[in-house]
Amino acid sequence: MSATFFAAVRGALGAGAVDVSDAVRAEYGRNRLPGGDRRPAGVVSPASTDEVATVVRLAGEHGVTLWPTSTGRNAGLGEFSPVREHQVVVHLGRRMNRIVEVDERLGYAVVEPGVTFRQLRAELARRGDTLMLSATSGPPDGGILGNALDRGAGYTPYFDHFGMLCGLEVVLPDGGVLRTGDGALAGAKTRFVNKSGFGPLLDGLFSQSNLGIVTRAAIWLMPRPPVIKGFAFAFPEDDDLAEIFELVRPLKLTNAVPTLVKVTSGSYGFGTEERYPFHRTGGAVPLPDEVRAELQDRHGTGAWLVSGALYGPSEQALEPGIERIRAHFEASGKATYVPHERMVEDPVYKIHLDTFGGEPTDRELGLLDWRPGGGATWFLPATPMLGEVAQLHQRTSRKILTEHGFDYMVEFVCGPRAARALHIIVFNREDPAEVARMNAAYQALVTAYDELGYPIGRTPTDRQEWAMGRLPEFERTCSRLKAALDPSGVLAPGKYGIE
Ligand code: ADP
Repeated sequence: MSATFFAAVRGALGAGAVDVSDAVRAEYGRNRLPGGDRRPAGVVSPASTDEVATVVRLAGEHGVTLWPTSTGRNAGLGEFSPVREHQVVVHLGRRMNRIVEVDERLGYAVVEPGVTFRQLRAELARRGDTLMLSATSGPPDGGILGNALDRGAGYTPYFDHFGMLCGLEVVLPDGGVLRTGDGALAGAKTRFVNKSGFGPLLDGLFSQSNLGIVTRAAIWLMPRPPVIKGFAFAFPEDDDLAEIFELVRPLKLTNAVPTLVKVTSGSYGFGTEERYPFHRTGGAVPLPDEVRAELQDRHGTGAWLVSGALYGPSEQALEPGIERIRAHFEASGKATYVPHERMVEDPVYKIHLDTFGGEPTDRELGLLDWRPGGGATWFLPATPMLGEVAQLHQRTSRKILTEHGFDYMVEFVCGPRAARALHIIVFNREDPAEVARMNAAYQALVTAYDELGYPIGRTPTDRQEWAMGRLPEFERTCSRLKAALDPSGVLAPGKYGIE
């Protein structure tokens, strides 16, 4: 079946749009997850919305399933590899990578799936830096659209990347092309600025789902502030977390700090610069508390590093705000202030400044090499902005990870009401015993959080089907939508557990 499909795609799109070689299938099947690599049947690379529609129609005719992906740089969540083996990767980013339009007055860029954070940053700089990107801490070569559609997030006031998309152009499983919002009317001039127009809001159907392939959209962009001034505080004890959450919440609820506030564990902070010191532990894992304390001291992170930034017209205008925030944290008697000037120079803090200023950085990816063997997975629950709950989450995660031989490396990215608790778990994927422990740890984490009432969000591809199985009525509803829009199951069956 797939041979006739690939021949038909070659005929319609040209031979260069198809690759079924073993080497390429192996490359696109590779990922870092404990669930193992998953090879696609081949890779197709359309160059336009029409070509995407052609690929979808041909897949339907030939009984082939597709795995759409933009840049496939979703490290720790699956990268290019499909949710199931033998799905055909549609690599949108290879030939659909144009910045179609930048509107500097209304603050948006219209992008194709291959447009990367680095590329849009460079284009905005070329245009005189009037607009600021909201970057992630993932790879600068990751795509704007793929990240937003999978509900990745940033750190600036425009952190909600999916929420900042407007006017999606979507190829549906039958090859039809839907434009969401005002874009539904051909020629609408409000397509990229007004999401809340007529009828149901359909945009959400295309996020963390398999109901369509998004071929372009506007991403809203904030004007770049003339001055961005960072601040950071190190707190010495693991259990200071409860107090930190209580201190951060009012700053976000009142918008006294416009960026999100990061509360980063010492290990997550120094883990970008250090490698696991096996020589110090005699090969034992996880990191003993005394070695961790030493590394926290060496890098000045404390057990927790709290960071954010203020925006304003001048250094002088921001000074009183920084002083107020300093007084707020220092009143705890525990916080050590880290000024902006030090953040600029020290790589551990520079990451924070970069992300608050919309500069894509690859430094945080250093965490992936904390331990050898190339394995990484993300565990992403949300933590309400309540000290006692943050403490409960810390204790729960730390205990489970420690018992399974992994380091507790977490960054709480705090908004007014909830933080995303970005747990990064790196492990040796070449050691089957460690992979088994990794799987057991992940399972134990999700189960413990479920029982406490705190579900996971964005989920690695090797866990999505299992995760959906916990949500019967939600699954039934998603399946009915799937059956209505994609009755023959062309698009990524099994993605986020939707069949
Ligand atoms: P990134 O490289 O930006 O991190 P990926 O290309 O790996 O993102 O995609 C992340 C997720 O979003 C994957 O699950 C992928 O299937 C989905 N996705 C990416 N781009 C699209 C798209 N244009 N339309 C529909 N789904 C997409």
